[in-house]
Amino acid sequence: MQKLLLSFLIFAIFGFGITSYSQGYLNGPNLFSRSVCDRPITYTTGYIDPRFNYSEAKVKEDLEKAEFIWEGARGKNLFEYDPNAQLKVDFVYDRKQALNTQINQLEKKLNLDQQNLDARKEDFEKRVTAFNQQVSDLNTEIAKWNNQGGATPDEYNRLVAKQNDLVQQAQKLSEEANSLNLSAQEFNLNIGNLNQKISEFNADLGRRPEEGFYDGIKNTISIFFVPSQKELEHTLAHEMGHALGLLHIEDDRAAIMFPFASETVVASPADISALNVVCEPKSLPETIVINLLLLLQKQFGEIN
Ligand SMILES: [Zn+2]
Repeated sequence: MQKLLLSFLIFAIFGFGITSYSQGYLNGPNLFSRSVCDRPITYTTGYIDPRFNYSEAKVKEDLEKAEFIWEGARGKNLFEYDPNAQLKVDFVYDRKQALNTQINQLEKKLNLDQQNLDARKEDFEKRVTAFNQQVSDLNTEIAKWNNQGGATPDEYNRLVAKQNDLVQQAQKLSEEANSLNLSAQEFNLNIGNLNQKISEFNADLGRRPEEGFYDGIKNTISIFFVPSQKELEHTLAHEMGHALGLLHIEDDRAAIMFPFASETVVASPADISALNVVCEPKSLPETIVINLLLLLQKQFGEIN
């Protein structure tokens, strides 16, 4: 059984090596020395989950921007859109994306709530001021009639009616005050929800920092998460970098190949020198060794 596994592994490695050697290097300078950069890697768009709200045209546009990051760095056409290409770029809706959308919606709702609450408070304060003025006017009138030795029955009835009206107004104002307090409480509650969502979101980000995944065996790039235009461009370029055979650059935060999500959309000097190494022509045995290393790294989850 172990022998069988071993021969399968050797077959897989050599098969993979020879396939990519012949795929990537057919137009190379000569048969024994070829480079992955000799001819462009073709790609196409695959499944785009409608919840991303991204049209295929927009995805193509972003892919073009991402490919140009590498092409500009190398001064060469390295990628090309081809509807029949084997490498597919999928947009797979992920929980992190759902959380991000929820946070945006909550933020919008909170802003609206805050605006409504502010308007109601302003109106309430105006009514309280008007109410206080009426109370003060009534007291002045009562004092005037008292000074004159008492009001006539008609005046007395009018003043009592006014007093009753003010009591009712006070009742309404008090209800409104309660209701405003209630709104404030609801508002605080939503802030709590938002903070919880943000911390869930951050926890998720902490666990899975990259927003895409390149699968060299299935020949797919999957994008899970689109928090911003710049981050999407970065992720597409990062995954395309893996498709070229680039590995992570752990010690350069400014690199496209730094293994965490970022808004970097310019290849750093470290990216460019890694690209130059990948683009150097290689012999078939070298290609097989490189593919063996890539395969092992994929196996142990170091590439994503
Ligand atoms: Zn990666």
